[in-house]
Formats: sequence, structure tokens, C-alpha cells
Amino acid sequence: SSPFSALGIADAFLSVLAGENYSEPTPIQRAAIPAVLFGKDILGIAKTGSGKTASYVLPVLQRWDEAKWPLKNRHVPVLVLVPTRELAVQVETVFNALAQGLATRPKVMAVFGGVSINPQMIGMQDVQVLIATPGRLLDLIDSKAVHLAQVQVLVLDEADKMLDLGFKEEMDRVLALLPRKRQNLLFSATLSNAVNEITQLVLHKPEVIQMTDEPQEVQLIEQRAFRVEPERKGPFLRYLIRSMDMHQVLVFTSSSHSADHVADKLSKHGIEAEAVHGKKSNHARLGTLARFKAGKLRVLVATDLLSRGIDIEALPYVINYELPRSPKDYVHRIGRTGRAERSGEAFTLVTPEDQPHFKVIQKKMKQWLTLESTDDVDLKGV
Ligand code: AMP
Repeated sequence: SSPFSALGIADAFLSVLAGENYSEPTPIQRAAIPAVLFGKDILGIAKTGSGKTASYVLPVLQRWDEAKWPLKNRHVPVLVLVPTRELAVQVETVFNALAQGLATRPKVMAVFGGVSINPQMIGMQDVQVLIATPGRLLDLIDSKAVHLAQVQVLVLDEADKMLDLGFKEEMDRVLALLPRKRQNLLFSATLSNAVNEITQLVLHKPEVIQMTDEPQEVQLIEQRAFRVEPERKGPFLRYLIRSMDMHQVLVFTSSSHSADHVADKLSKHGIEAEAVHGKKSNHARLGTLARFKAGKLRVLVATDLLSRGIDIEALPYVINYELPRSPKDYVHRIGRTGRAERSGEAFTLVTPEDQPHFKVIQKKMKQWLTLESTDDVDLKGV
């Protein structure tokens, strides 16, 4: 089945997607499509080229198709605000292209200034998807050619550019005409103060999707995940450290208690390790960190508290002995390696019980790792 089906996209769209050569969803599509289908508000920080247009056009079309919103004539259910004529035409093309597989297709119109308004006024009859620059939209509203009181989905595309072009006042006027209950999708290439302001005004508990440089940094890091039975975790950790000849490795645990335990066990088996966590004194923590940085300590075992503060140039190895609670912590942990353009390796130990949670983390990361079996690794005498 199509990877778009896995995101909840209906079969009616699949042949069109194949025809457009969209074989895989882009990262923003992977993140946005399920959330939009679910009816959530979205803040998408992404540039042109990310596939952002289809990331909202597809699920909005599907919602339109399924919802059968009962509307009065000239009341538009889907409104897309854009900064320029070029973008308006482009978005219109994408809507029409992707709607082709639907049994009933919406009437899609793009309107913008600089051309005669009369044909646009006539075109508002039965319009279902209206793509508009703010100024021309207000002209059409003022002449009662179209009404916004029943808008179900509002999209602000390239919101930063709309603000840069001085459309703030027009946007505010448009927003005031919308019904309270609606879905809001806001896309912007940047996050300026002005964008933040409009975001606060428009979005309700949005799903934030940020396609920044962070994933690229993460891509420098080679990640592997090992499926390990709980009772084999300690020996497997020693096996990893020894077989890969790690001289400096940061090991993460989920609690202070298990950090101490892991460090003790390693030391008892001849691998020099010390733990740092919130229950140690500041003095002790700094001392341990300094020894580790100086290369005098082979293994530093730490909790998430420390993952943000440890600044070590190009740490070659990070091991997640236990999973972090949140995907954010996972990014912070593995971000301790592979910095400054140097590659690093991050290994994660996953017990059978951890697997559902690890799936959640990967989903948030938009990165999928193959779980490598370790059943055949001989751990005797490690
Ligand atoms: P956008 O960022 O929306 O301006 O899209 C950039 C380009 O990527 C457009 O030419 C789209 O047709 C194309 N595109 C969008 N989604 C996909 C996909 N899933 N696979 C391949 N191309 C895509």
C-alpha cells in the first residue's frame, strides 16, 4: 500500500499522487497530513521546496470531501490567504491537480489584485476553495460577492511574506470576519516577532512542525538501535564499548539511581565509568565532567538533566542505555555526538517492552531505524 495511506490519505487520491510522481511523502507532509486530517491547527515552519503546499492541500481536500459542509451560496468553506498572485495561481493548480480523483470536485478559485474584479465576482458563485491575496479578498467581501462567516478551514501560506509585504491590516480585517470555530493552518519560512504575533492570534493549540536545520545536524549522526532483552543489557553495553573500542562514550539512563548502578557495574568489570546526575553535588559533577572532557574517564553515565549542558567537541559515541521520555530528549542526547561537521554514532538499546515508546520517538523524529537483533551476540565473559 502507499505510504500516503499510512498517513490516512484516502484511496481516491492515490492514483493522482502516483501520476504526480509523489512516491514518498516529504517530512512536512508526514507530519502535517495526519494532524490536519485530525482537525488540528498547524504551525508549519518550512520553505518552498519542502512540499508544504501538498502537505495542507491533500488533507484539506479530504476533509472537504468527507465533511459535506452545508453552506449557503457564496459562503466559502476553505480559505487560503497568500501574499502574491504567483503563489495564488500555484496553489490553485495544486488543489485542482490533487482533487482529480474525487467523485465530486470542489470549485477552486484564485483571486488577486491587478486584474478586473468582475469575472472574479461572478466566479464566487458556489466557490468551495478560495485562494486569495488579502486586498482583493476584502474588495470581494465589500461588494458582497463572497462571505467568510462559514469558513471551516483557514490557511495562511507564506505568512511571513504576507507580513513583509504590509498586509497586516488586511489580514486583521479578514480574521475578524471569520467564525470562531474553525481549523487554522499557518505556514511560514521564518519565525519573526510579527509571525509570532499572528500565530498567537490565529492558532489554537497548534501542532508545531519545524523543518529547520536541526534534522540536518541529526543526519550527521549515524544511529543504530539494538533489540536487547533486559537481563542482557549490562553485558551488551560492555560488549559495545569493548568491541567498538570506544575510548570516550556518553551513556544515558533514565534515572539517577540507574546511572549510579550502570557506572558501578562498568567499573566492576574494568571499564572506568562515573555517573553525573541531579543528586550529585555541583562540585562532584564539575569534577567528573572535567575528567571526561580531558579524556581521563572512559565512560560518563548521565541522566537527561545533563544532556543539554554537556558541551564536548565531537564526542564520538552516545549510547542510550535507557530510552528518554520524550523525543526532544532523544534529539538532545544524540546531539551530543557528531557536532561541528564531524560524524558520530548513537546507539539505542531497546527492550521488547520499550518498543512502543521507541516507535513514538521515531515517529516524532520522522526517522525510522531498523531494530537490530542481538540474540546471536555472544556475551560470555564481556
Ligand atoms: P512546495 O514546497 O509545496 O512548493 O513543493 C515543492 C515541489 O515539490 C513541487 O514541485 C511539488 O510538486 C513537489 N512535491 C511535493 N510533494 C512531493 C512528494 N511527496 N514527492 C515528490 N514531489 C513532491
